[in-house]
Amino acid sequence: MALYKYDKWVKRSDHEAFDALHNPGATTPDSGVYRCENCGHEVVSEKGSPLPPQNHHQHTPGQGRIEWRLLVFARGK
Ligand SMILES: [Zn+2]
Repeated sequence: MALYKYDKWVKRSDHEAFDALHNPGATTPDSGVYRCENCGHEVVSEKGSPLPPQNHHQHTPGQGRIEWRLLVFARGK
């Protein structure tokens, strides 16, 4: 689970960017922390770079495939 210390610098949001699931290796739409929907693994990915590929980490058969969801949106300025 992602952690932070100073809540005045992190704000809750209902932005639609948090709803989309992204395939392994897809282009990162927004810089930030991404979480694997099916196992909870977290990574940082930069806008325009590929999200980690299907072989990034191992799932048990019951966990299905890797799907990335934006967890913390790094907005720049
Ligand atoms: Zn996973």
